[in-house]
Formats: sequence, structure tokens, C-alpha cells
Amino acid sequence: MSILILGGGIAGITAATYLGEQGQKVALIEREEGLGGRLNNLFSVYDLGISPKDFVSRQITKLKKFSNVDIFTCAELIETKGHVGNFNSKLKIKNSKPVKIKHGAIIIATGVNVSAPKMDCNSQKIINHTHLEDYISNNKIKRLSKVIFLCDFAKEDSQIIALSTLKNALLLREKLRCEVSVLSRNIKVAGKKFEQLYTAVREKGVIFSAVEGVDVEGLHLICDWLVIGESILPDHGTEVLSLTLGVERDKQGFFQNNNVHFMPNLSNRKGIFFAGACHIDAGLNDILDDSLTAAYAAHNLLEKNTIEIDEKTAEVDEEKCALCLTCIRSCPHKAIDIEFSREVGKKAAKIVEEACFGCGICASLCPSRAIQLREYEDEKILKLIG
Ligand SMILES: Cc1cc2nc3c(=O)[nH]c(=O)nc-3n(C[C@H](O)[C@H](O)[C@H](O)COP(=O)(O)OP(=O)(O)OC[C@H]3O[C@@H](n4cnc5c(N)ncnc54)[C@H](O)[C@@H]3O)c2cc1C
Ligand code: SF4
Ligand code: SF4
Repeated sequence: MSILILGGGIAGITAATYLGEQGQKVALIEREEGLGGRLNNLFSVYDLGISPKDFVSRQITKLKKFSNVDIFTCAELIETKGHVGNFNSKLKIKNSKPVKIKHGAIIIATGVNVSAPKMDCNSQKIINHTHLEDYISNNKIKRLSKVIFLCDFAKEDSQIIALSTLKNALLLREKLRCEVSVLSRNIKVAGKKFEQLYTAVREKGVIFSAVEGVDVEGLHLICDWLVIGESILPDHGTEVLSLTLGVERDKQGFFQNNNVHFMPNLSNRKGIFFAGACHIDAGLNDILDDSLTAAYAAHNLLEKNTIEIDEKTAEVDEEKCALCLTCIRSCPHKAIDIEFSREVGKKAAKIVEEACFGCGICASLCPSRAIQLREYEDEKILKLIG
């Protein structure tokens, strides 16, 4: 059974490479002309040793050696039917006929979008992280005397922007030796090698000041540049993809993990996993680990060629089903279909056992009392409570 990976950034590439090494058949789908995603546009990553572009290009070369990994570029998913172990998808590919793929699992690795900081100010002195990084890394600026980073001014910044602030502050101290200050409410440094970077930045003489409720309009700062972070937003295709695949998003619109107490890569649907920036706010090191975890989970699921069914799945009494569709609308795991039942000679709700989590929501909502949860049938429960 093959695995479909959506998104050819570093998360998708890392997952596909792991699965390629395991001999798993993979179809990697990338919307753009080339693979690599965000790393193609970053100038540096702390402690990586080489440029992000070279890093990702090495990983692409490695990936392309696997004959069991098919790469589709300029491609997008337009339809997916079926359930864990038995998905059927249709792809739209530029200048080519649509392609149909049968696969057992999906890894979503579609990354994020970035938008310019929302500031009503025309000053030439205000700059965002991407431009600053370009100026320093490509030696476009030779002298600066003071730069201030303003973090969390509108809302709490993402970890990615905190990471970018520290990295660029360090670059400024090392390359231009100018005075650098970071004004923030609460800079978050949890993550692999993050604390180490923070210590290195402090040791280089960057000044951190805690500020609350900055009124940017009335702010009078003496500096050459004021650096403001971009907003990290869900990728523009996230909403459509969530509808196509029936996977949940959080309040900000990012893909949402099924349950924080379980493995973070699990979605609300069995057989669909998340990898990378599309569901975690993290730097490259954490993204590499996260993508391997998603790949491992998908491989583990399909390795035995059989899907294990939970003992406590729901069951429909087709005779009683009035086809009101309540259960279909309310199942959070998209585990109910409508099918024609030969036994009762009509259409009725049908639980897809391999996709059912046994949560019991459908059983509690069915107005015809047509659904029972195996091991927790009404009769058994009523006896227990007397
Ligand atoms: C501005 C910025 C600065 C950063 N700075 C640092 C840093 O200094 N240090 C650090 O460690 N990390 C940094 N990061 C974080 C991290 O390295 C990146 O976010 C990481 O590259 C994300 O990898 P990804 O594969 O999850 O997503 P991406 O690299 O965004 O890749 C996603 C891919 O999926 C494709 N795609 C999207 N939707 C679809 C679809 N429906 N079908 C097919 N393909 C699709 C996209 O075209 C893209 O190629 C930064 C991130 C940003 C945004
Ligand atoms: S909620 Fe009950 S009656 Fe309605 S479709 Fe589902 S099983 Fe049938
Ligand atoms: S018990 Fe019902 S609501 Fe819960 S996952 Fe199974 S089919 Fe869906």
C-alpha cells in the first residue's frame, strides 16, 4: 500500500526519504515547480553549517535516488475518497492528464504562509525579518550603528519569529558589530538548540528588555532600523484541503492534532498524519524530528498490510436507521458512510470499522437508537448502574 505525501518542503522530503529507505511506495505531491519549500528562501539557519538552500538541495538529491518514490510537481490533490488503508485520490497536474492514486495513508506537510507585519507606518526605517536577513547575509549593507527588534507588539509572536529574531540579532553582532536590542513581552525559547542560541546571542552582547503593551504609533526609538516580525499564517490552501480530506483545523486555521495526549502527528482521521510547519510552530531541527515521527507512524500502520480494528467500534442496526444523517454529521472522525443494505433492502448508515475511534458520539445522538457501541451496549450499561 502506498503513502501519499502532500507538500514537498523539508517536512515532506524528510518523510518521503525515510519511507523510501523502508522500501515503502510513496507519491510526493508538490504544488510548485520544484521541491524545497520555505528553505529555498531562507538565507541562514543557526548551526546548520551550510545554507538552507544547499541543505534542502542535498536532501532532494538523496530522495530522487529512490525508485519507489514518485514525485509529482505542479500537482494538486482534487479529490480523496475512502478510509484508512484504502484511499483513492485524484491529482490535477499542470499540462497533463489527471492521475489517480490508490494509497493506504496520507501525510500532510503543506507548510505555512508568511504575511508582512501590519503597521500603519511609512518610515524607511522599519524592516521585516526576511529583508533584514537578505541585507546581512548577502552583504548588501556595510554599516549600521543601532538596530532594535520589536517582538510581540500586536500579539504573541510565533516561535519561528522568535527564532528568526535571535538568529538575525546574532548575525548583526557578528557581521556588522552594531548595537542590537530586543524589546519583547515574552520571548519563547523552548525547542531543540533554541536555548543554546539564546545564550549565544546574550553572550554576544545583545540587550533584551521586557516591555508590556507597546503603542507603536507613539513610539520614539533612536535607531537605524526597527525590525518587526512577519505573521505566520496557515497556507492559503489549508481550508480547501481540510474540507477535501475531512481533517480539523484550530481557531487560527492551522491543522489541528487529534489529541494533545496522543502522538502529535495524528489527525482526527485514522491514516491521515501531519508533518512540519503545517501543524507545529517550530524551527528546522524540530521539524526534521516531527517529519520522521509522522513517517514512522504511517509506515507502522501499513507495514503489516492489515489494518487493526478496535474492539469497541460502533455498530448500526440497519433496520432501525431512519437515514436522518445525524451520525454522519456528528462523527468527528469521518467514520460513517451511507450504503445500501441487502439484508434490509434499503440504504442505511454504515460504520467503517477501521476508521472508527469508538468515541460513542454517534450512539448518543442517534434519534432512532439505531447505534450501539460494542462492549458498551445500552443493556449492559443499564445492568451495571442497576
Ligand atoms: C519567515 C520564516 C523564517 C524562518 N526562520 C527559521 C530559522 O531561522 N531557523 C529555523 O530553524 N527555522 C526557521 N523557520 C522555520 C522552518 O525552517 C520552516 O518553516 C520549514 O522549512 C518548514 O518546512 P515544511 O516542509 O513544513 O514547510 P514548507 O517549507 O513551507 O513546505 C511546504 C511545501 O508544501 C507545498 N504545498 C502547500 N500546499 C500544498 C498542496 N495543497 N499540495 C501540494 N503541495 C503543497 C508548498 O508549495 C511547499 O513547497 C522559518 C520559517 C519562516 C516562515
Ligand atoms: S443517526 Fe441513527 S437514524 Fe440517523 S442516519 Fe445515523 S444511524 Fe440512521
Ligand atoms: S463511535 Fe461513532 S462517532 Fe465515534 S468514531 Fe465511531 S462512528 Fe464516529
